[in-house]
Amino acid sequence: MAVRIVQSADPSETEALGAELAAGLSAGDVVLVHGELGAGKTTLVRGAARALGVTDPVTSPTFSIGHRYRGSRVTVSHLDLYRLQSLHAEDPELLEDYLGAQRIAFVEWPEAGASELAHARVRVTLAHAGGDRRRIEVREPALAGFTPSAPTGAPR
Ligand code: ADP
Ligand code: MG
Repeated sequence: MAVRIVQSADPSETEALGAELAAGLSAGDVVLVHGELGAGKTTLVRGAARALGVTDPVTSPTFSIGHRYRGSRVTVSHLDLYRLQSLHAEDPELLEDYLGAQRIAFVEWPEAGASELAHARVRVTLAHAGGDRRRIEVREPALAGFTPSAPTGAPR
């Protein structure tokens, strides 16, 4: 298990971390993004999506559980399961539209889909650390393809 903890001082640093993370992902990967409201989950996903070639605006899903964006090589799915108590009460195929071999999926508030998302490649946890600072923990159960390195922007 690789664990890396970095500090972000502003949204651009969080986006840059997302971009760096994206560089190590492959089609079929799922990234779980934990953290309180306003911690920067969507900001991180935005940076990752940009790095994967998404040019459309990346915004929080509000009327559905997720968005799908066309990236340069894969479809980028962005899910937010905040309003789902448990997927089991919902259509079991709900996630199928977003996951899969040709996609890279980022899931905010993934708790509701815990069992379906158990195979996630990376787990990111963001936490408020005063003002614009955020503590960001990146856990990667499976090491392959991801090289932990210094974050963009010096750690503080
Ligand atoms: P979440 O998806 O976790 O609710 P968002 O990414 O939508 O969070 O919002 C994070 C908010 O916090 C944005 O308004 C962003 O500009 C602000 N912010 C301030 N500092 C940071 C930081 N270091 N990283 C990410 N977002 C930050
Ligand atoms: Mg969000």
